[in-house]
Amino acid sequence: MYRDHTCGELRIANVGQKVTLAGWVQRSRKLGGMTFIDLRDRYGITQLVVEADAEASLVETATSLGREFVIQAVGEVVERQSKNPKMPTGDIEIKLEAINILNKSVTPPFTIEDESDGGEDIRAKFRYLDLRRNPLQNALALRHRLAHEVRNYLDSKGFMEIETPYLIKSTPEGARDFVVPSRMNPGQFYALPQSPQTFKQLLMVAGYDRYFQIVRCFRDEDLRADRQPEFTQIDCEMSFVEQEDVLNMFEGMMRTLFKNVVGVDIPNPLPRMSWYDAMDKYGSDKPDVRFGMTIHEITDKVKGNGFSVLDDAAYVGAIAVPGGAEYTRKQIDEITEWVKRPQVGAKGLIYIKLNADGSVKSSIDKFYTPEQLKAVAEAVEAKMGDIIFIMSGDDTRKVQTMLGVLRLEMGGRLGLRDPKVFAPLWIVDFPLLEWSEEDGRFYAMHHPFTAPKPEHMDWFNSNKKEDLERVCANAYDFVLNGNELGGGSIRIHNADVQKRMFEVLGIGPEEAEYKFGFIIHAFQFGAPPHGGLAFGFDRVCALFAGKESIRDFIAFPKNNQGRDVMIDSPSEIDQAQLDELNLDIRPIAE
Ligand code: ASP
Repeated sequence: MYRDHTCGELRIANVGQKVTLAGWVQRSRKLGGMTFIDLRDRYGITQLVVEADAEASLVETATSLGREFVIQAVGEVVERQSKNPKMPTGDIEIKLEAINILNKSVTPPFTIEDESDGGEDIRAKFRYLDLRRNPLQNALALRHRLAHEVRNYLDSKGFMEIETPYLIKSTPEGARDFVVPSRMNPGQFYALPQSPQTFKQLLMVAGYDRYFQIVRCFRDEDLRADRQPEFTQIDCEMSFVEQEDVLNMFEGMMRTLFKNVVGVDIPNPLPRMSWYDAMDKYGSDKPDVRFGMTIHEITDKVKGNGFSVLDDAAYVGAIAVPGGAEYTRKQIDEITEWVKRPQVGAKGLIYIKLNADGSVKSSIDKFYTPEQLKAVAEAVEAKMGDIIFIMSGDDTRKVQTMLGVLRLEMGGRLGLRDPKVFAPLWIVDFPLLEWSEEDGRFYAMHHPFTAPKPEHMDWFNSNKKEDLERVCANAYDFVLNGNELGGGSIRIHNADVQKRMFEVLGIGPEEAEYKFGFIIHAFQFGAPPHGGLAFGFDRVCALFAGKESIRDFIAFPKNNQGRDVMIDSPSEIDQAQLDELNLDIRPIAE
């Protein structure tokens, strides 16, 4: 037997017991002839001590231990002279009688402690060492706990976990597929699933009316910060449901997760906001509602005073930032430069200060009377001491989005985005379609299986662009603190509606047959009304821990370039493998 206790287990009540522990040497130090060793395993750290008058060979072994040696230690639990209240095992130490070195370690490239001295790159290369550290162990433990709670909840509601294949044909989700060449079918490729969307719908046709899967998905997207090419979803589908049933079921799941994992009660029922309100008031389809500072349209209030920037704009919007009247010229200039960065894309920023003494000062004093500026302030619901920031332009949604980005920045600067405060809500009533000016066609805002709202069928069947733009979908997103945590929709289960959807999307019958033939055929055999959703599990983990980055919640993640630097992947393959696959690599252009 290697051990009879873990390194996180022993307490004052164990004093006098003889124990055997096993683990890694975090550090060892000599003090007045005694040797102290911190022994670590995933349960904690226990202090071992070799007395100055211990047997010479024991002292010698204790002194020879390097960091990360794996040892077995035998000794007696004794009360510590100087206790460490910060450690659960801090009241005791083990007076050693024997040390057995199970394995040596070369010197690790960084210190394996809560605060490591290793930079991100080196820790990624030696991920298995980084994973020995507490912060990462806690992250993976939280992930395990959440997965367990998800399974418990869904099992209790009659859901079955069913695996779907990883080697499939392209799924129509909009991003690029990762493809896998087939050796046995030369010239043909599998695709890795972007989501099990079509399979879960086929499971509904097959009669498995409550399905879920905690499943890996793959998207070959251009990498943005904190995106992983492979990620995990909690993927769910239900039959004989309306939108209301799906929302209730899954806010119930989130409520249980919040309660059981972080001890937080979220509102019951959860707030809901239409996509239109979210865009108008927050400039985002994933609004952070932990704070106000909402966007107000002031187009009518500022027209006709000879200030062409606002006179000519189709839309003028504003936010009021609390306490902003105090900002200096320099601070306002800095914020103006900030919104002009390409990431935000504003041309400039107009301000109105509502000074504490009741006076107003603005960058547009030349064109407006103090009364007019006060009327704007009223429309924006600004208070004394605030600063109002105004943006304008021809594309309403674009201006709102820029104001939304500024709002988040100002909220962050004012400390209004505390990661330990949770403000979840549903966004509902999404437009079904999105017009692409560039391609001159509509795209599905969610995916082509999403059902139009029954009350919008006339618009859906109309051939006018303005009508089609007005069609809302029975689609919904679960949003938390400015992040989309999940989303889904009620699906089309009627073959004629699906046909019309492909028509609207400019997908001809042949293309539809080639791409989605299997699902169109299946739907002829009695597809039940159904709907579902998927949550991004990695992000659920991160946000529950109050963290921004998902990388710590994945045992072996890829870096920002989509590489696994530990195993050095992606990598080239040998000629023999290429030959077997019937593939030639073209020279890569510089
Ligand atoms: N398949 C969708 C997604 O991955 C979720 C859903 O509609 O259920 O976003």
